[in-house]
Amino acid sequence: MGGPSRKMTLTTKILIGMVAGLIVGVLANTINSGFVNDYVINGLFHMIGTAFVNALKMLVVPLVVFSLLTGVFGISDVRLLGRVGGKAFGLYIATTAIAIAVAITIALVVGPGVGFNMEGVDTSGVTAAEAPSVWMVFANIVPTNPVAALASGEMLQIIFYVIVIGIAGLMLGDASAPFVKACEYMNDLMMKVVEIVMAFAPIGVFCLIARVFAQQGIDLFIPVLAYVATLTGALFLHLFVTLMLMLKMLTGLNPFTFMQKIRPAQIFAFSTASSNATIPVTYRSVTERMGVDNSIASFSVPFGATINMDGTAIMQGVATVFLANVYGIDLGLGGYLTVIAMAVLASIGTAGVPGVGLVMLTMVLTQVGLPIEGIALILGVDRLMDMIRTAVNITGDAVVTTIVAKSEGKIDLSIYNDPEAGMLDE
Ligand code: ASP
Repeated sequence: MGGPSRKMTLTTKILIGMVAGLIVGVLANTINSGFVNDYVINGLFHMIGTAFVNALKMLVVPLVVFSLLTGVFGISDVRLLGRVGGKAFGLYIATTAIAIAVAITIALVVGPGVGFNMEGVDTSGVTAAEAPSVWMVFANIVPTNPVAALASGEMLQIIFYVIVIGIAGLMLGDASAPFVKACEYMNDLMMKVVEIVMAFAPIGVFCLIARVFAQQGIDLFIPVLAYVATLTGALFLHLFVTLMLMLKMLTGLNPFTFMQKIRPAQIFAFSTASSNATIPVTYRSVTERMGVDNSIASFSVPFGATINMDGTAIMQGVATVFLANVYGIDLGLGGYLTVIAMAVLASIGTAGVPGVGLVMLTMVLTQVGLPIEGIALILGVDRLMDMIRTAVNITGDAVVTTIVAKSEGKIDLSIYNDPEAGMLDE
């Protein structure tokens, strides 16, 4: 009964790794010693951090394939599959649109960048990205070569292909039984591999965070403080108010419980700045800690990591207003509506990897006629902003997954309400 020293949970250890990384990183930045920078920060820490992110990415494709196959076999009704997909898609688009609309409004009210002087800002090396055609974004969901899609981790193509295979398996009925069993086994196996990788999370997170803060001096933030403050405010508003209100209103579930249970995934998203690499952790958080059924989570989590980017859209909204202010250009209502539409579309077609939001921003700026060189201004602070917005992105994925699961009666409330549930707290 309640021994004197309860074992520290993995989440706590990861949190400690994160805070320790922050302290060590800031210290290293202050000391700025060549030896420390070369051998520790960019040597040892870089190696461990990269190996850890690689290990997470290594899990993504097999985990998505087998959990999705198990999910489709679990749903066993193609119409239900269509309904779940439709709900998730609608909610993902709606949350992203709300996020950016609110962000633009906040930025217009706060007015970051008014009176800023662009002189002396190095704008070389900023080039515009081409906007993808909406039609082709949808057409390219169908892979020409599924093996190539798997090899390059094309998430939408993988999801499409796996669902088709799953449906074919369902149509074959009893003949599929051995395959279904094999997929279930592979799914369990992959979960074990996630557990193994997660055991290294505290040290991996420590190294990732320490390196970011060692490289990003605090003085980088001063010139664009208004941008950073407005963006962070808008991101937190979406995270703590909009998303939690949606969760409460659409499911009746306790948002505080949700926040506690999604924390490990947020820490991973923050450390890696990649929704894709965080898929294994988001998936395990919603299934094992919140009780969402695999049949919903296996589809909705990787789908969300690919098409849902609330935080990224918020960044694009605030950045557009900021740059419009810097250049003294009034975009007008039409301009801002274009920004909303572009950001939503761009987030559908691009994967959740570090820095992609900034590339998408060049498309948005081109569309509304703002000079893309302005991006040079916010380049320096983008890594930290990327970390925060990725945490918001995956929280949006988890909220929508939970809402869809609740509406389908596919959530085990005894797990959701159990504060101890989930492998991350063992
Ligand atoms: N890093 C973000 C993500 O993975 C995308 C971005 O905003 O750059 O979700």
